[in-house]
Amino acid sequence: MGEKKTVLIVEDEKSIVDIIRFNLEKEGYAVLTAYDGEAGLAAAREKKPDLILLDVMLPKMIGFDVCRLLREEGDNVPVLLLTAREEEADKVLGLEIGADDYITKPFSMRELMARVKANIRRTVMQQGEAPQTQETAGGLSINEDSHQVYKRGRAVELTQREYELLTFLASRPGKVYSRVDLMEQVWNYGYVGDDVRTVDVTVRRLREKIEDDPASPALILTRRGVGYYFAEQ
Ligand code: CA
Repeated sequence: MGEKKTVLIVEDEKSIVDIIRFNLEKEGYAVLTAYDGEAGLAAAREKKPDLILLDVMLPKMIGFDVCRLLREEGDNVPVLLLTAREEEADKVLGLEIGADDYITKPFSMRELMARVKANIRRTVMQQGEAPQTQETAGGLSINEDSHQVYKRGRAVELTQREYELLTFLASRPGKVYSRVDLMEQVWNYGYVGDDVRTVDVTVRRLREKIEDDPASPALILTRRGVGYYFAEQ
């Protein structure tokens, strides 16, 4: 077994922190905690956790700002927002600023653990293997060892989820996947509900980063009424 994955919980309600910590430790994760936004940001910078569970409504600095600052600094740690609100706008805003996922309170521990597992970095470095680089249409190259993506030689910063969506679609150019397919296969969710909206937002963010003209995409294409697919060479 590799070393333990570390999860940082940033949440001001101690009872919630305690129960999440208990469940994560039971599942074999190392756990760090912070009870306000500033402390959470500092812990993320210093400790480099493998995933952050980030409450939105926090003292000192709200979760959205913590996430936005980390992304501006080039930190692509998976971020799962804990939101107490039902408003669709909040969920979309969270994804727009670079969170990988959100879960709405109240949530079951089983659901939360499934989301943590689905979102945590699954990088396993294989020693001694040649770097795997895939060249795709549109001057994109994907290095699967470093998880780095280049657009005509220039590095593109992607979140873990954006990277996984891109590599999944690019692995089979021309194959159309429905949003439900993508939720199941990229997000690893066994259920979907209205979460398919997450796919649309992630596709939009990805297009903004890799397309020459995001309004008229040439790499990640939409098959109207069906889903998304990657352009063939
Ligand atoms: Ca709170």
